[in-house]
Amino acid sequence: MTRLFNDPADFADEALAGFCDAHQNLVRQVPGGVVRRARPAAPRVAVLAGGGSGHYPAFAGIVGAGFATGAVVGNIFTSPSAQQAYSVAKAADSGAGVIFTYGNYAGDVLNFGMASERLAAEGIAVENVLVTDDIASAPVGEIEKRRGIAGDFIVFKVMGAAAEAGENLAEVVRLGRKANDNTRTIGTAFQGCTFPGADDRLFSLEKGTMALGLGIHGEPGLYDTTMPTAIELGRELVERVLVETPEGAGSRIAVLLNGLGSSKLEELFVLWRTVAPLLREAGYTLVAPEVGELVTSLDMAGVSLTITWLDDELEQLWVAAAETPGFRRGSVAAMSASAAENADVAIDDQLADSTEESRALAERCHAALAVVRSTLHDSESMLGDLDAIAGDGDHGRGMVRGIDAAYAGAAAAVERGAGAASTLAAAGDAWGDRAGGTSGVLWGAGLRALGETLGDTEQPSAETMAAAVNAFADRLLELGKAEPGDKTMMDAIVPFAEGLDDGIRNGFSFPDAWITAAAVAVRAAEDTAALRPKKGRARPLAEKSLGTPDPGATSFGLIVTALGRHLAESATQKDNS
Ligand code: ADP
Ligand code: MG
Repeated sequence: MTRLFNDPADFADEALAGFCDAHQNLVRQVPGGVVRRARPAAPRVAVLAGGGSGHYPAFAGIVGAGFATGAVVGNIFTSPSAQQAYSVAKAADSGAGVIFTYGNYAGDVLNFGMASERLAAEGIAVENVLVTDDIASAPVGEIEKRRGIAGDFIVFKVMGAAAEAGENLAEVVRLGRKANDNTRTIGTAFQGCTFPGADDRLFSLEKGTMALGLGIHGEPGLYDTTMPTAIELGRELVERVLVETPEGAGSRIAVLLNGLGSSKLEELFVLWRTVAPLLREAGYTLVAPEVGELVTSLDMAGVSLTITWLDDELEQLWVAAAETPGFRRGSVAAMSASAAENADVAIDDQLADSTEESRALAERCHAALAVVRSTLHDSESMLGDLDAIAGDGDHGRGMVRGIDAAYAGAAAAVERGAGAASTLAAAGDAWGDRAGGTSGVLWGAGLRALGETLGDTEQPSAETMAAAVNAFADRLLELGKAEPGDKTMMDAIVPFAEGLDDGIRNGFSFPDAWITAAAVAVRAAEDTAALRPKKGRARPLAEKSLGTPDPGATSFGLIVTALGRHLAESATQKDNS
């Protein structure tokens, strides 16, 4: 049984929040998952492990030096969204490219694939390495159809060590695929797991039986059989894995005897007492074997045996030091250049050339962010209350966290002499990084897009400014895939962007056009009260949301209204001076 929970729907999020707090020296929570606390001093390939929750220490627990750079964390046994994957990748990328690596499941392939397209479109080098170690899930002839189970651990470890050693993207991918090609796992379950809050196990086995070949999400096994003794099971597992020895395999192997959640470690050691001698008798040298719970399935009772046939380069990576919340090996301090790398240093990216005009515009953007900041601080609790009606109540908090980070990011960029595009990119990235929630990722990406239109050298015309606001709206439409009428902030943003465009084209001054468009946005936000949400967290609570305006649309209305006042004041000051 899973006994400790609050609202079962929040189990995965709450577990992640607690995990991040407990291990805050090693990891940092970002929208969509976690990344390492320390950023590399020089660009390093980011290895991002993924999948659903419920498998601890996979996958958040293996983020750290010598292992994964980050983990994309979905709900229990559920693929993370493309948005989550994208957002973790953005937080983790240090300029050498990113690799999503995960067990082969349709939902993961789809979502990580979509995130990869977005990243590639932004010029970030991205690759996917799928793990297909489960010999029970498809025959030898169709290895590419096999799902990934505990073999994830060894493949991810190899890639993490390769990235830590400074290998480039193609090389880390090659090593990961090679590790996967040489990894085989067979699993078995004695009892199904229980979802938090569920009355029954996901599946049940008759007393005295065992399901051989079971996956890590409770997928059916190859066949049910009477419960063997530990010696009989050890023989069966070894036999089944060795039948699949890859062609040309050597005599040195990594071995993982894995508990699935509620098998005692002593039971595993009893089993190991059979497994290890059998492998040695078969002529193998066991290299840094692991006996423990490394890829679990909530509280499932069961075990799996994984073997990876090693060559020199794979062995070196498998035995390399690692320090993560859920797994430690060797001494990370002894790792090359680790002192510098473990310091919490930001990447020293090259600043794009800027002109004086653009630097002045960047300062005006920074001043505008200060206005947004005080507006959001003032309305934090109101926005939270709105979001609590049909959402999760975090909109006020999220927006405040986002704008505080964005403001600080912009300040640092201006300080360094950044132009408008670089300043807004820094602000947007900080917002997306810190805010959490759907709105944070969207606002962050939107600010970046807005800046890209303004550039680092131009003195933009009113038309260009309006185009930049439209780029903001387009980016959000593209990422969030919500349309006006779905009851999201797009209901306020789209009419605002269109209104601003129209106003400028009809010869209004920029502040006047803005103020008129802001009034339209506020009305559109109010009108969302009559809508049922079709996107976002509020969707399942559609009926509850009727009569209440959308929180994201409401905060947008407040922001553009405050900015309108600010623009008018600045224009008056200019006229008076
Ligand atoms: P979360 O929904 O993740 O808790 P917030 O509470 O910060 O994030 O933000 C909620 C707001 O996000 C909603 O009120 C809505 O305006 C906006 N939103 C949700 N999904 C989308 C989407 N797909 N596209 C645009 N905006 C969205
Ligand atoms: Mg919310």
